[in-house]
Amino acid sequence: MRNFKTTFCSINSSFLKKTPKKLKKFDWQKFAARVDKIIEHRLFKPVASSIVTSFVLFNGLQYLFNSIADYREVREKKLRETPIKINLSTLESKFNLAEDQIAEHHIKSGETMSQILTELGAVEQDVSAILVAMKPVFAPNRITAGDEILVKYRVKIGYDTNKAVDRHVTVTNIVISPSPTERITISRNQDNSYAAKKSEIKLKRYVSKYFGVIKNSLFEDGITSGISPNTMMNMINLYGYDVDFQRDIHDGDKFEMLVESFYDESGKKIKDGNVLFSSLILDKRPIEIYSHKIGGQIEYFDGKGNSVRKSLLRTPINGARISSGFGLRRHPVLGYSKMHKGTDFAAPSGTPIFAAGSGVITYYGVKGGYGNYTQIRHNAEYSTAYGHASRFNKKFRVGSKVKQGDVIAYVGTTGRSTGPHLHFEVLVKGVQVNPAKVKATSGLRLSGKELKGFQATKAEIDGYRKNVPNQIKR
Ligand SMILES: [Zn+2]
Repeated sequence: MRNFKTTFCSINSSFLKKTPKKLKKFDWQKFAARVDKIIEHRLFKPVASSIVTSFVLFNGLQYLFNSIADYREVREKKLRETPIKINLSTLESKFNLAEDQIAEHHIKSGETMSQILTELGAVEQDVSAILVAMKPVFAPNRITAGDEILVKYRVKIGYDTNKAVDRHVTVTNIVISPSPTERITISRNQDNSYAAKKSEIKLKRYVSKYFGVIKNSLFEDGITSGISPNTMMNMINLYGYDVDFQRDIHDGDKFEMLVESFYDESGKKIKDGNVLFSSLILDKRPIEIYSHKIGGQIEYFDGKGNSVRKSLLRTPINGARISSGFGLRRHPVLGYSKMHKGTDFAAPSGTPIFAAGSGVITYYGVKGGYGNYTQIRHNAEYSTAYGHASRFNKKFRVGSKVKQGDVIAYVGTTGRSTGPHLHFEVLVKGVQVNPAKVKATSGLRLSGKELKGFQATKAEIDGYRKNVPNQIKR
C-alpha cells in the first residue's frame, strides 16, 4: 500500500518536478551572450553596423525632407493668403505694358475683321466701332485671304474689381493693304471713336532696258534677260503682223526692249507697265516698234508712224507657244511651194489658232485632206484658211463674225497630216497665194498734228534707248 502510495507520490512529485523545468523563465543573459557572440563574428559585425547606420540615416533624412516640405507648404499658403499690396486708389489698377504694340497679320481664308480684332483682345465696343467706321470706306467683308493688316494697339494689365488679372487692349491704328496701290487706315479719335480713310499709293515709274541675243528662242531668251513672261507675250503679239516666228527668226538674231515698271515707296517692284519700244534685229535688219498714246489709248507704230496692226496676222497662232522652241528645232513641215499652197506652223496639239483678220466664217468643218478646216472671208478680195485642227471653238459656226485674234480652233493633226501643225493659206479671190508675199494693209497712218505728236514720243523713247543702262539679271 505504502509502495503504491509512494509510487503515486513519486509519480506525482516527478510530474511536479518536471513542470517548473519546462516553464523555466527565458534566459536573456544566455540569449544576449549568443547575440553577442554572433555580433562578435568578424563577418557579421560590419554588415550589422552598416544596416543600423543606414536605417538611422534613412529615417533621419526622411524626417528632414518631410519637415522641409511642410515648411514650404506653410510658406506658400501664407504667401497665397497674403494680399498683394497695390494701391487701389481707383476701382481698378492698371499699368502700361508698353507704349504701342504692333501686330502684323496676313489674313487667312475665312477670317473676319471682327475675329482678328477679338483675338487680339479688343473689347466688343471697340470692335463694333471699328467695323462701323470702316464700312463706308472699305466694307469689312472685302478683306481677302493674303491681304496684309497692321494693327497698332496699347495694352494695360492690372487687377479688376474682383482682383482678377485683367488685360485691356486699346486698338489705336489699323492699316489694311487690299492691293499694292490701295491703303485703308483706321485710327482712334480723342473721343474714343474711330475714323477710316482710303489712300492711293503713288507708284514710281521707271524705264528698264533689256537687250539679248537669241540662242534658244525669242520667248526663252527674253525671259532669261529679265523680261517678265507677260511682257514677252505682249511683244510677240506686236510682231504677229510682221514676223513669221517659225521661219524669220534664227540663232544670233537680237532683240532690244524698253519696258515701264512701277515700284512702291519701299522699292518693291509692283508691276510691269507698257512696252515702250521693241526692236527685233532679224538678219541685221531691225523691225522697230514704238508705243504712242492716241486718245488715251496706247497704240504701236513703226518709226514712220504707221500702225503695226495690219489687216492680217502673219503668225495666226499663239506666237509664244511656237517661239518657245517647239517649231524651231524640228522643221518637219513645208514652206510655200506649188505643191503646197500655204504655210505650215508646227506647234503642240491644242495651241490656239487665231483669226488672222476680222471677217465672217465661210467654212467650219471637215474638208478632205485638210481635216478640220476653217475659212474666213475678210473682204471682197481676201480670205484665209486653216487646216488640220484638233477641234473648233464651239462659240462660232458658219456665218459667225470674228475679230482679228479670236481663237477659232486648236492645232491638231486631222486629215492628211504627219504631225500636229497648222496649215495656213491666204486666198486672193479664191486662189491661194504665198502668205509671205501678201502686203497686208496697215490700219492707221499718222499724219499732220498726230504725226508731230508721235515724233515727240519717238524722240523721248530714243533718248531712253541711249541713256538707260541695260538691265542685268541677277
Ligand atoms: Zn500644210
